[in-house]
Amino acid sequence: MQAKNIKNKKKSIRELDKQIEKLTDKLLLFDQLARGSVATIKTKCGVKVCRRCLSGKMHPHTRISWTENGKGYTRKIPEDEIEWFKSTSQKYREFKVIRRDLKKLELKKKKMVDSLENLLLIETRKLKPFLWTKK
Ligand SMILES: [Zn+2]
Repeated sequence: MQAKNIKNKKKSIRELDKQIEKLTDKLLLFDQLARGSVATIKTKCGVKVCRRCLSGKMHPHTRISWTENGKGYTRKIPEDEIEWFKSTSQKYREFKVIRRDLKKLELKKKKMVDSLENLLLIETRKLKPFLWTKK
């Protein structure tokens, strides 16, 4: 029965490898990534008689912000780069999902290899009585 168990474990490791390779291929397709999100904020211009400010419309600015190594950043973004940034930061979110899935699979593979190692050690030990640790 153990022989079948070992065979199945090896097969599962191969399967995981294929899934890992697929995800790696997906990751390698990305060329540009950008962290962060876009927000429009309204500011007062400082002119006391400004109609926009008095009416509450104020002056909208588009900003991007992100966190990197625990530090927050906010930057102005040129109008004509907003669409680029939105799609590139969306790609980054997709990239991170793939990375997370890849990490899960790699961990699963590691556990499976550990388990195969144990199985093989035990099965080998069964064939060679001098390898037993208990008498
Ligand atoms: Zn104003």
